[in-house]
Amino acid sequence: MSSSALVLFSGGQDSTTCLAWALSRYARVETLGFDYGQRHSVELSLRLPLLSSLRDLNAEWHQRLGEDHLLDLSLLGKISDTALTRDTAIAMQANGLPNTFVPGRNLLFITIAAALAYRRGIDVIVGGMCETDYSGYPDCRDESLRALESALQLGMATTLSLRTPLMWLNKAATWQLAQDLGGEPLVALIRTDTHTCYLGERGLLHDWGHGCGTCPACELRANGYREYAAGISTKDTGSRLSPG
Ligand code: ZN
Repeated sequence: MSSSALVLFSGGQDSTTCLAWALSRYARVETLGFDYGQRHSVELSLRLPLLSSLRDLNAEWHQRLGEDHLLDLSLLGKISDTALTRDTAIAMQANGLPNTFVPGRNLLFITIAAALAYRRGIDVIVGGMCETDYSGYPDCRDESLRALESALQLGMATTLSLRTPLMWLNKAATWQLAQDLGGEPLVALIRTDTHTCYLGERGLLHDWGHGCGTCPACELRANGYREYAAGISTKDTGSRLSPG
């Protein structure tokens, strides 16, 4: 069994849940974040306080949680023109993908993570990519990630594995997973201290957390929380964010 993992950790709900998942499984866990010229760097500013809160939450996690890495990928902002990196309204494009899609982002993130993991002697990468409840980003799909995992194993001659614990969970089930991993204190931490909103709004604290409440990311998070709170979280319901 693998003993160490590198978690792609942005400071959002999904990556924080993945981090808790990894801390429950691996003896040593390191974290990696990217600064790629996001329109809103709210998430990035929340990463370090979140890491410190996770350490406070659980003595075993405190022991397991190792180094944090933050890498500059500003070249991504330079070569992509999307609603996440430019001041543009969120909209659907002709190809059926929202303009929040940053082409190649996850492929690049995971490839860089693999290079870092190689250097750090880590053989598992954990990411919050998910097929179930998302906007259909092609680089979040299991098929894309399995292909990338094979390419990395071949190209780096390693046994590196890519774990995606949220792949088949909807948002309600992701809240439930946090509850299973860290109980009410972890759910409360994710509610108040993680960030999801595409518009970078913190503002009011809703029952599901901070955010504008109307962008696709907020809607998904809020609906998931309501379903979770109502006790109807289920695995892989096949629900998908409707376009627009
Ligand atoms: Zn929002």
